[in-house]
Amino acid sequence: MTGTIFNIMRCSINDGPGIRTTVFFKGCPLACPWCHNPESVAREREIVLRDDRCIRCGDCIDSCTSHAISARDGVIVTDRSLCLRCGDCIPSCYAGAREAVGREVSVDEVMHEIVRDRVFYDRSSGGATFSGGEPFLQHEFLMALLEACKRLGIHTAVDTSGCTSPSILERAAPFVDLFLYDMKVMDDQKHTAFTGVSNVLLLENLRRLTAWGKEVIVRIPVIPGLNDDPENIRRSGEWLSSLRTIREVHVLPYHTSGTEKYARLGRRYALGATPTPDQLHLATILNELRHHISRVTLGG
Ligand code: SF4
Ligand code: SF4
Repeated sequence: MTGTIFNIMRCSINDGPGIRTTVFFKGCPLACPWCHNPESVAREREIVLRDDRCIRCGDCIDSCTSHAISARDGVIVTDRSLCLRCGDCIPSCYAGAREAVGREVSVDEVMHEIVRDRVFYDRSSGGATFSGGEPFLQHEFLMALLEACKRLGIHTAVDTSGCTSPSILERAAPFVDLFLYDMKVMDDQKHTAFTGVSNVLLLENLRRLTAWGKEVIVRIPVIPGLNDDPENIRRSGEWLSSLRTIREVHVLPYHTSGTEKYARLGRRYALGATPTPDQLHLATILNELRHHISRVTLGG
């Protein structure tokens, strides 16, 4: 059993309780324009070019038999439509400007990394978190990891948009101690316009989890101009107050860290002019949500 991941982060403190090891799965069915992990979206491995490291030597050009790499006005350019993601150009780059994002790993390899920090989990009530991307996109791999963690008594969290079938969710739920559930926009048309996916199944799945008594932390990114209007915040609060087992709501302000990754992947960052939300506006949002739910925090 193998899967494709793009990172394993040890000693994470932002992906659930305590000290955790977070495994980032590759591949996501949503296309949120604010995503700060754009390397997570494609299911397959990708080649990135770090322009800040490139010394313009041109050695990678000859290494690419697909002729995907060229120099234009002194800048090294990769034609993504020709790139086969073979990685043959990486060893040719002395400067380390070319990197592969995403690697196939076995369950045993991932578990080897997770188990290394078991002593920290025990002391901090931490554990393993499976994030992405959307972990449920590789649900068999996810299941194998969840089962392996549970056999060892390791606390598990899954960071998800909920974009999966109810049957897969039901199969996984007994092996997940905590769901970190992203909620973006209540209006379905807006949700579809922003993310490319309807929110009907996503909201239904959140209701399912709470009906099954699963512990859930809901995470709401606040994206100015997209979902921070009073109507959406009020509807979010009202809807969440109707669910039984929401442990907390975390409000996550829009930030621009990670936007440089878009250029490395040869993509345009669509929210370039979006400001970060100011403190007064965030306080208003927190107050509105607290009318409906008792435990609402900024960040998390
Ligand atoms: S990954 Fe392969 S096809 Fe893509 S640019 Fe590098 S050598 Fe060329
Ligand atoms: S081999 Fe590396 S440093 Fe040289 S031009 Fe290509 S990307 Fe830039």
